[in-house]
Amino acid sequence: MKYNEINIIRKRGRPTDIRVAIAYPSIYEVAMSSLAYQMIYFYVNSRENYIGERYILNKEKILSIESGNRLANNDLIIFSIHYELDYVNIIKMLMKSKIEIFSHKRNKPVIVIGGPPIIANPEPLSHIADVLLLGEIEPIFPKILDLYAEYRDSKKRFLESLSPNEGFYVPSQNPTEIKVAYASTLLLDFHPIAQIQSLNKEHTWMRSTIIEAMRGCLRKCRFCLEGNIFWNKRDRPLSQIKEIALKGREYNRTSNIVLYSLSFFDHKESDNILEFLIDEKFSFSVPSMRIETLNEKRLELIHEGGQKMLTIAPETVSRKLSIFLGKASPQEMIENIVLLARKNGFTSLKMYFIIGIPGEKLEDIKRNIYFIKDIAQKTGYKGEKQLKISITPFIPKPHTPLESYPFEDIRILMKKIKLFKKELGGIADIREYSPKHAQIQTILSRGNRELSKTLVLWAYYGGNLGAWKKAIKENNINVKKYLDNLEPPYPWHKIKIK
Ligand code: SF4
Repeated sequence: MKYNEINIIRKRGRPTDIRVAIAYPSIYEVAMSSLAYQMIYFYVNSRENYIGERYILNKEKILSIESGNRLANNDLIIFSIHYELDYVNIIKMLMKSKIEIFSHKRNKPVIVIGGPPIIANPEPLSHIADVLLLGEIEPIFPKILDLYAEYRDSKKRFLESLSPNEGFYVPSQNPTEIKVAYASTLLLDFHPIAQIQSLNKEHTWMRSTIIEAMRGCLRKCRFCLEGNIFWNKRDRPLSQIKEIALKGREYNRTSNIVLYSLSFFDHKESDNILEFLIDEKFSFSVPSMRIETLNEKRLELIHEGGQKMLTIAPETVSRKLSIFLGKASPQEMIENIVLLARKNGFTSLKMYFIIGIPGEKLEDIKRNIYFIKDIAQKTGYKGEKQLKISITPFIPKPHTPLESYPFEDIRILMKKIKLFKKELGGIADIREYSPKHAQIQTILSRGNRELSKTLVLWAYYGGNLGAWKKAIKENNINVKKYLDNLEPPYPWHKIKIK
């Protein structure tokens, strides 16, 4: 692919500079939509004596976007990861670059991996990474870059300098406890204003200034990984948001804003943020909103910002199961919000549901289906374009109150999906997250060190579903133990979330 981008940083540098690969184990579009990835890129390059270049997974050779440098020619490789199924892509990128996969056999480059699934349970990658980052960018990155500069001549001394009390997990040192490192406040220094923008025609939909409005979530739903691992809710001050938006329009050559958060209207200045953006003639989208926080005024604000589809996540309408999930939005409340959205000009509705919740009966699935039909009838949101339903199997995640619960049998999940499709054909566009992928995600989320070797074999055999089966068989992995009820101690018991 030919890259045609603005805000790219090309440092000429000196031979003594530290070369840092900022790698994302997925395709370009996914990488560039990740604000965390851009934060790391701009932070590394803001430091004197460091040259940061981007690497993504592609079909060709793994070369940097900035200069075509090879991945192996770096001192540090930092992988940013947001999805467990991308673990295999880390190995693929290393294999393609002829870099030794296992950390104990590798001297250079030093491999560092971070991201939400790593904070939750880094064990499956613990034979591959030299350092796993258990924490947020602000406290972690200044330290790791400083320490690397100090000990760059000795990998051993560098690894020894990283403290498990500051969010650094060095598996070869086998620490008994690692504390996750959090930022107490959100600083502007770490939030890029000029962000990489692709000028390619096929990427027009991506053109925007991304603003992280808030981090953490006060709701702590019992199934939600992000809500449970990102400590307290922290609001980005309105003054910062205004500055990023106004300067971002100039640097990024777009008036479109995407407001990242886990539950936007829990920001104490949420309404003021949207009013400011409207006054300044920005268009914007608010991807994550909790139903309880919505009202007519807020729907009007979002609509005025240009968002035409309302996206909400009831998860289930069964009272019992929603209490179990810790996310019980009364059915009448959901209905009212959807009716208000219709009245205020939203042209389509997207709803997220979870299936395979422990204790779920066929009756509960039928209740969801009945509810969707009822909404379609009452609001007129009907047909593939107007009503979109997303179905995801329940994945028990580490550090959540539901971490030990089982993953449902794939055949039962398939039957439930089939029922949704049969009953709602012509009424809604139904998209499911494949139960087979969800099952692998559960295994990797709750897996231990033995999975490092399986990941390598999986990559070696091609990284698809057939290759996964072959790899677990060859490695004699008993997947059932990761899918059934789990008993403590869990593989992530050493990780201390605040
Ligand atoms: S409101 Fe959303 S982000 Fe927050 S804990 Fe619940 S599911 Fe997670």
